[in-house]
Order: sequence, then C-alpha cells, then structure tokens
Amino acid sequence: MILVTGGAGYIGSHYVLYERERGNEALVLDDLSLGHREAVLDAPLIVADLSNEAVLDAVFRSYPIDAVVHFAALASVPESVAKPHRYYRHHVAHTITLLDAMRRHSIPYLVFSSSCATYGDPQYTPMDERHPQNPINPYGESKRICERMMQSFDEAYGLRYVSLRYFNASGADPEARIGESHDPETHLIPIVLQAANGKRRSVAVYGNDYATPDGTCIRDYVHVNDLAQAHALALDRLRAGGPSATYNVGSGTGHSVQDVIAACREVTGRQIPVEEAPRRAGDPPILVASSAKAEAELGWRPQYADLHTIVETAWRWEENRRF
Ligand code: UDP
Repeated sequence: MILVTGGAGYIGSHYVLYERERGNEALVLDDLSLGHREAVLDAPLIVADLSNEAVLDAVFRSYPIDAVVHFAALASVPESVAKPHRYYRHHVAHTITLLDAMRRHSIPYLVFSSSCATYGDPQYTPMDERHPQNPINPYGESKRICERMMQSFDEAYGLRYVSLRYFNASGADPEARIGESHDPETHLIPIVLQAANGKRRSVAVYGNDYATPDGTCIRDYVHVNDLAQAHALALDRLRAGGPSATYNVGSGTGHSVQDVIAACREVTGRQIPVEEAPRRAGDPPILVASSAKAEAELGWRPQYADLHTIVETAWRWEENRRF
C-alpha cells in the first residue's frame, strides 16, 4: 500500500486518482491546510500534520505500507522569498520527520516531489539532471536540501528513493473531477483562465525585459496526469529493485508568458486583458527540461504534451470547478 502525503493537494490528488484507476490502494495523509477534502474523492484520508510523529508511527504500524509518495509541500516561489521560514519548516523539517519515521519502521521506498527550482539560473538549456544546482530562491534551496537528506538516508540506511524534479505542473483531470485550486492562486495558467471567465480583472505579466524572444519568462509546462504517470513508473522501478535516482519531468518545450496567454485566448475564445508589471523576485528567465532520462529509464511517455491540450483541460476544470 502507498502512503501519499499531500494527497489532497493539486499534484497529489491527481496521482492518487491515477493509482486508484490502475487498481492500486493509496492512503492519503494531508492536514488540509492547503489541500481539499473533495480532491481525495473516495480514497481513504487521514487528516494530520506531517510534523506529528505519533500519527506517522501509528500509520506505519497500522497499514501494510511499503512506499511513501511525498507531495506535502508549499508551492509558491514568491512566497518562499518573502517567508522563507515556512518553506524550510514545511520542506526540510517535515521531510526529516517523515524520513526518520520511515527509517524506524523500515519502509523501503520513497518518491519525492522535487523541482526544477533546484537548478537556479540555467547555464544551458534544455537542462538535464547533471546541470549544476544553485537554487536562487528558498523554494528551490529547501527542495535541494531534501534531496541531500534522501541521499544520506540511502547511503546510511538503504532507503531507496526517486526524486522527480518537476517543471511547471499544469492542467487538470480531463474529466474535470479534480483540478488546481490554490488560495491565493499564484500560478500562471489558472490566473489567465480566471481573467478569461471574469473572476479576475486582468493578468499581470511579471517582466517583459528578460533575454527571451518576446521578453517574458519561458517555462516548461507539464500536464499533471503526466506527472502522476512519472510517479507511478518511479515507484514500479523501485519495487522492481531499481536504484535510487533523480529524473527531470517536463515536456521539453518552452513557452513564454505571452505564449500561454495566446493559447488561453485561443482555447477560451475570450479577450483576456493583460497589464505589464515589474519582474517577480526569484524568477529565472528560462526553465526547460530534458526528460530524456525519465523516458529512457522509466519508460515515461507524456500523453498531454501539447500546451493547447493542457490549457483545454485546465479550462474545463475552471468552468466546472467544485472546490
Ligand atoms: N507569471 C506572470 N503573471 C502571473 C503569474 C505568473 O507573469 O500572474 C509568470 C511568472 O513570473 C513566471 C511564469 O509566469 O515567469 C510561471 O509562473 P508560475 O507561478 O505559474 O510558476 P513558477 O515558474 O513560478 O513555478
């Protein structure tokens, strides 16, 4: 059985649905501070904070868990710049509490939500896993520390882990049963779609003087179900005896903020008012993945690689959202 921390959150809930649809049991642990009870659908849910060692001990004693997929985290780069204490506590402190509980209960496998933010400003693009890691914000720094902790636990205690460095998670369940819902929302695609359906007045474009073709930041948008598939394949590989490893998970294609706005205009057929705004702290100009290693070693095959398809699923959710 898989324990999914943060399974009521955006990426976690899509992963839980993905595993359950392929007949696997997943137990969700989430404090619901950012996640949504509705996002879990009918999966079993324990509402608890990851810092609670007694709950972790009870869960590992009570259920036949052999693997943890650890999503529970905060997800805003600008907030991490303004409030680093929250990011180091939620990422570093809570992850060590989890790792230590896994050690005490001899839980062998961990799949971890890492990030392209661990790389910092790109020295070359697309970035592969050997790109140097010099994070430029506390979000990336705290995820980088978690990767080092897992490496030490592997060396000392034989914990086997896969660290997945996500690029920009986006889109929603194509059937719109679940989707992205943050409060406040900081991510580009939902913000643009909310400007399309009138929930927001306009979209602020954070910086138009970057060294990119149209001056706006370039990101690699990867569909949340493709991320879910990567976690499932990573866990399959660990259970089959595979070694600890790190993989980028991105589409391999870069889209600027202007490209995203254009795609949202096409998909929605709406105007979408835009305003220029200053650069946002902590934003690298360009982040694009090479996911060749995940494709070769995990057999990862993205199903929703195209930006239009991603936006279509996000728009369906935005128009039908239940939480
Ligand atoms: N962005 C923007 N306006 C917004 C939100 C985001 O211009 O209202 C830009 C942001 O500066 C970044 C890109 O969109 O270059 C993606 O930002 P997001 O917060 O979605 O993801 P991040 O790359 O920070 O993980």
